Amino acid sequence: MLYLTDPEELASIWPEEPGYRADQLRGWLYETPVLTTDEMTNIPGLLREDLELWPFEVEAEQVADSGRTVKWLMRAPDGASIEAVLMGYAKRTTLCISSQAGCAMACTFCATGQFGFERHLEAGEIVAQVAYAAAFLRRHGLGSSPPRVTNLVFMGMGEPLANYRHVKTAIDRLTGTMGMSARSITVSTVGVAPAIRRLAEEPWRVSLAVSLHAADDELRSTLVPLNKRYPLEEVIAATEYFMDETGRRPSIEWTLIAGTNDTMDQADRLARIARRLRSHINVIALNPTPLTADQPPTATATRAFIDRLTSAGANVTLRDTRGQDIDAACGQLRARQMTVEP
Ligand code: SF4
Repeated sequence: MLYLTDPEELASIWPEEPGYRADQLRGWLYETPVLTTDEMTNIPGLLREDLELWPFEVEAEQVADSGRTVKWLMRAPDGASIEAVLMGYAKRTTLCISSQAGCAMACTFCATGQFGFERHLEAGEIVAQVAYAAAFLRRHGLGSSPPRVTNLVFMGMGEPLANYRHVKTAIDRLTGTMGMSARSITVSTVGVAPAIRRLAEEPWRVSLAVSLHAADDELRSTLVPLNKRYPLEEVIAATEYFMDETGRRPSIEWTLIAGTNDTMDQADRLARIARRLRSHINVIALNPTPLTADQPPTATATRAFIDRLTSAGANVTLRDTRGQDIDAACGQLRARQMTVEP
């Protein structure tokens, strides 16, 4: 499983071969990724024979949105599941990747959270999701969208900052060996405050998305249990620190749930936080899953919430929910799997 090997140590695979073989292999893994070892045309067939390229098997590939969304369910040899979703737009191709198999954060509205935690993903398993999508795009493209991963978001399964060590190594490889721009990478968190501060001190300048979902501690603790450990003010202070250290404005993510966090009071409080953080707010109407009774607000209630934020001086975008019919939208990863499992 080549992606589990440190790219700087690939030479150890063929100790008898000249050093340039490792360079060739590194090129096929990170610069021009391929779906199969057969495509590594400058490496002799005998050497390629025993190579295992991917640290997972692609168990299912589902396509939605007229071919503009592709979701993969990948299975590691120990049975851990990994999900990644590729979304094509006019000028960008965004890949949403997982940092953990399952998630321990137990956010009440999230299918992954209801399923529980399996294990952290290793750095190589995180990078391999990006390489797989890049290889897929090189071979098949994605309609008229750019045939490469232009934006990468850690918004799939898992809380990336709870798996800091492996996520850090993965970003080192993505920005170093793979040559991605740190600015095109967004790390999303539900508020692991100390790790936000740590992220601010890394040499690369990734984007930060803070998933608030509620603008006071009482409500937030019911939706995001982590809030009891890192209350809102601590998360906001860590986010301010990130902004001061990196010069980058974080975004705020808000999953809108009918009758819960779609009130005018929440909109007013959220607008105040957004002004303080000089942040853009991304509102996503909840994607219903069979695992919770929560529902998205009506279009009218959603509009009223957005209008209130806007009139309070906040910058807001209502995000579209891609891949709903294949459970690839935010908070839906693992939903379908969960429903068929005993
Ligand atoms: S919303 Fe994110 S952090 Fe919360 S349970 Fe789901 S995957 Fe985990």
